[in-house]
Amino acid sequence: MEISFAGKQALVTGAGKGIGRATALALARCGARVTAVTRTQADLNSLVQECPAIVPVCVDLADWAATEAALKDVGPIDLLVNNAGCAVLQPFLEVTPDQFDLLFNVNVKAVLHVSQMVAIGMKARGSGGSIVNVSSQASQRALRDHAVYCATKGALDMLTKVMALELGPHQIRVNSVNPTVVMTKMGRLGWSDPEKARNMKSRIPLGRFAEEEDVVNSILFLLSEKSSMVNGVALPVDGGHLAC
Ligand code: NAP
Repeated sequence: MEISFAGKQALVTGAGKGIGRATALALARCGARVTAVTRTQADLNSLVQECPAIVPVCVDLADWAATEAALKDVGPIDLLVNNAGCAVLQPFLEVTPDQFDLLFNVNVKAVLHVSQMVAIGMKARGSGGSIVNVSSQASQRALRDHAVYCATKGALDMLTKVMALELGPHQIRVNSVNPTVVMTKMGRLGWSDPEKARNMKSRIPLGRFAEEEDVVNSILFLLSEKSSMVNGVALPVDGGHLAC
């Protein structure tokens, strides 16, 4: 399936590492003009070195005012990928308020904020658009030591549905991808222990974790016109984990 984003403007958050970085590079390869947002300047430097056409924006998305200032001049955006996310592992009885606030700020509140900023422009131009939120299988499965992370992704799935409902009439589609484990920096945090990894893989019918490319391909599909009637879905990229 050939997908072209020629003439489209895309914005990807959390584009410094992992799934977001791979998504930004894939969008650029498909012809989009890509704005890459993340909080570590060194990652942006190496990204621009790899793909000089990418426009870098360095900001901590947990900071509402800084995000407002950093993104106010990015210009019209047609395709938005809310990918930035963080995970902190704490047993439920040891969850701390600072970690609760951090995870909800980045994984939920920043998605709402960046989407508002982008969708206001999409609505005003009347040109429609597509937004993909990077959620997780953790939105629908209880994972030990992931109480707050699971709660943020559950909230994100419902935010996705309401955005789809309210933005749909403006021809702005909003969907999520819900991957299983991907061995990025975040994936290694939770799943480097071979016993835990074996146990999780045994509950994935395809018997393996996802690769970055598996997730990127689903994001590209949801951004593209190939999914022009798909709105408000949470698409598992999980080898069948959520089916059983
Ligand atoms: P990753 O390798 O840790 O990359 C996350 C990226 O987001 C990094 O560039 C990070 O920057 C950036 N980021 C985090 N907090 C930020 C903030 N406050 N402001 C700006 N940028 C920020 O993670 P990943 O595995 O690619 O995860 C990407 C998305 O997939 C997340 O939403 C995650 O929840 C979801 N997901 C991951 C997995 C998995 O197993 N890996 C599974 C399901 C869903 P810094 O490195 O500078 O902090």
